[in-house]
Amino acid sequence: MTARRASFPQLLPRSIRFRLTAWYALLLSLVLVTLGVSVLTLAQRRLNDDVNDRLLKTAGDIGVQARRNARDAAARRGGFFFADIVPDLGSFASRGLKIQIVDREDRVWERSESAPDHILVPNQRTSEPTFHTHRVGDADVRTVRFPITAMDSNGNNQVIGAILVGESLETFDDTMGSLRQTLLGTSIVGLALAVVGGWLLAGRALRPVDRVTAMAAAIAAADGSAASLQTRLQVPDTGDEIARLSQTFNAMLDRLQAAFATQRRFVADASHELRTPLTAIRGNVDVLARQTAHADLGPASADIAAALDDMRRESGRMGRLLDDLLMLARADAETEVQLDQRPVRLDEVARDAVRTAGALADGQRLEVSADPVVVSGDPDRLQQLVLILLENAVRHTPREGRIAVEVGGNGTGARLVVRDTGDGIAPEHLPHVFDRFYRADGARARATGGTGLGLAIARTIARGHGGEIAVASTPGAGSTFTLTLPGNRQ
Ligand code: ADP
Repeated sequence: MTARRASFPQLLPRSIRFRLTAWYALLLSLVLVTLGVSVLTLAQRRLNDDVNDRLLKTAGDIGVQARRNARDAAARRGGFFFADIVPDLGSFASRGLKIQIVDREDRVWERSESAPDHILVPNQRTSEPTFHTHRVGDADVRTVRFPITAMDSNGNNQVIGAILVGESLETFDDTMGSLRQTLLGTSIVGLALAVVGGWLLAGRALRPVDRVTAMAAAIAAADGSAASLQTRLQVPDTGDEIARLSQTFNAMLDRLQAAFATQRRFVADASHELRTPLTAIRGNVDVLARQTAHADLGPASADIAAALDDMRRESGRMGRLLDDLLMLARADAETEVQLDQRPVRLDEVARDAVRTAGALADGQRLEVSADPVVVSGDPDRLQQLVLILLENAVRHTPREGRIAVEVGGNGTGARLVVRDTGDGIAPEHLPHVFDRFYRADGARARATGGTGLGLAIARTIARGHGGEIAVASTPGAGSTFTLTLPGNRQ
């Protein structure tokens, strides 16, 4: 079953449009075939009846003539021979009919020019007219055998011979042939037109579904930020299935957006609330550390000092984590609001950040090459972004390594590049380094104080400015982070 299902898409396109058109074509073919067969059957029956009527009428007319001859002969001589009653075929024969007048023994007494010598239809031993279709030469011929009756001396009606009238069915076959061809031709053309029309109509009818799908896909493919969840599908005022689908989808987005907002508020509130007790803990650790430094606690003093050191380091890390979380939660909320935008010299922001990061450097060479570039944005946020990139670079670059910051740009956009000669990032981690809490080197990053939120914050800031941040890296050779921002529009 599964295998059959799996092979299905290769055989037939899995689209409603295709299925609708295929069903439409199938039904139309059925209708056309039924219609064609009915028309052909009816026409054949009708033409057949026409031929039979014509034959019967001619035979009847000749019969009337024969009876008149018999009456005349009887009046003249009190009786008649078969030769007396044989009518003159002149006017009948001219119709191109095959006519034979035969006696009871099937001897042909008279025949029209087109009729053969041999009997067309042998004696049927019946006093009723009978119809036969048979082949004469290379054409089918329909013949009626019309018995001639006469009263015998006992007053009984006796068959004394027959009138055979035959007509070639060539015209009949031609008519049926052209009817069949016309039906087939119009059916094929009609079917082709209907399939094309059906395909176009189905496409037209399903276009709103495609539109809904495309919009839903665009929302799904967006970064899941508050702004991307604000998009809503257009609800056509048709009140149909598409309108209901769009409404349902929008209602789902409303709930999703509300859930995101709640989550964001929770993270923001929690990190905000946790900062106060954490500050108290850090203050107390400092007090304890100062007191133990002066008190004589004997052999335990080294252990206590180490434990207090751990506590200070870990609470410091927790403080940074809370700051980052708060920052992200606020940034998420702020995407709905415009950032505070004003003209900012990106080169100056970069120089300030490099100066600050210089204090963190542990032997790495920090270089700046910056052209004066003005962008519109929030200088503090931009500085934070550059610092995140520089801190990461310092953390991942060995002592003798080099970290270079380049700033350049023109009226349409600005570019800030942070290049290091550090460990680099493995290709499988590259697509995820901007994800929240993603750490390419797991435990080690945690040990070096990373929260896994730095690059997520950097990307949020970049996008908040209408820009983007990208990374390229060669493991062992270093990484390059490139920030692109739109030019200053003010
Ligand atoms: P963290 O706070 O752990 O540094 P980030 O979001 O700033 O978190 O970075 C995510 C991951 O990307 C880091 O764990 C690190 O492995 C990797 N990374 C970031 N910058 C660099 C860099 N310059 N060189 C090598 N790896 C980097």
